[in-house]
Amino acid sequence: MCQYCVEHGQGTKWYLNPKNLNLKKAWEDANVRSVLESLALGGPKALVETIASVNALVEELPYSKDALEALNKMSEGANGGQVVPLEDTIQILKTPQKFDMKIGLTYCACRKQWGGQNKMVCMHFEPFCDLLKKSQGTLSKYDRYITPEEAIELCKDCYKEGLVQWVQWCSMPNVIGICNCELPYCIVFRTRLISGVRNAAIKGHYIAQIDQKRCDGCGGSPQCLLACNFGAIRFSRLEQYSVVDPTMCFGCGVCRERCPNKAISLIDRESVAVAKDLW
Ligand code: SF4
Ligand code: SF4
Ligand code: SF4
Repeated sequence: MCQYCVEHGQGTKWYLNPKNLNLKKAWEDANVRSVLESLALGGPKALVETIASVNALVEELPYSKDALEALNKMSEGANGGQVVPLEDTIQILKTPQKFDMKIGLTYCACRKQWGGQNKMVCMHFEPFCDLLKKSQGTLSKYDRYITPEEAIELCKDCYKEGLVQWVQWCSMPNVIGICNCELPYCIVFRTRLISGVRNAAIKGHYIAQIDQKRCDGCGGSPQCLLACNFGAIRFSRLEQYSVVDPTMCFGCGVCRERCPNKAISLIDRESVAVAKDLW
């Protein structure tokens, strides 16, 4: 269990606890409302400023332990997220209808900003998606409401495409939606991997495991290695098979989809001694 499951999970993962998935209820809290409003209504301008400040902060790397802890605390109170595999994404997306919340689809602001691409793969719960609608801009443009079934189908397609799912919180532990991300565009992965801010993208609850008996190394062109956003897979030329470095794995599961031999499965992070405390 990660720190947030212990604090907010009530026996399950923090993002599967129904209490944390009722954003309409969380909206009644003035602090949460204020964070949501600044996130949404700051809109594209805020994102550009964030990207600029992240870039500027890179100049100051490596951060001191104190500076990193301060950034993590800030992210906990405002906005951050955790990598999730498709199975958990589906469970998350089934809950908004229990609370009569709509799901809004928006364009990915990171891809627009970094790659000039228009891709609609961000989904947010009501009332956050309604705030985004008000902040219409060139980067995070709101598109339309989608049903939970559509959201799940879209996430399945994204997963097949190799995109990594990330459950986003506003003022921990309130879930505000699911993003389908990839490097080099994703600002949260960049903030985690380049700047080392853990709470931008906490590692998931799983680790990929490769069954060496099934792995034939894809004839020297390992598909799983190409699919991994986090550089967690190594290919042994000598043995002609791939191995996962559990200390680098984020547990997204997209490598599974790419394996023609179904050699990859996800196991609990807690069962892997070298990775169980790495979030
Ligand atoms: S967090 Fe991911 S899906 Fe959301 S805007 Fe950034 S790259 Fe796009
Ligand atoms: S090894 Fe697989 S599960 Fe782990 S981070 Fe890479 S793609 Fe995701
Ligand atoms: S994709 Fe599957 S078969 Fe290919 S190298 Fe990776 S684990 Fe082995």
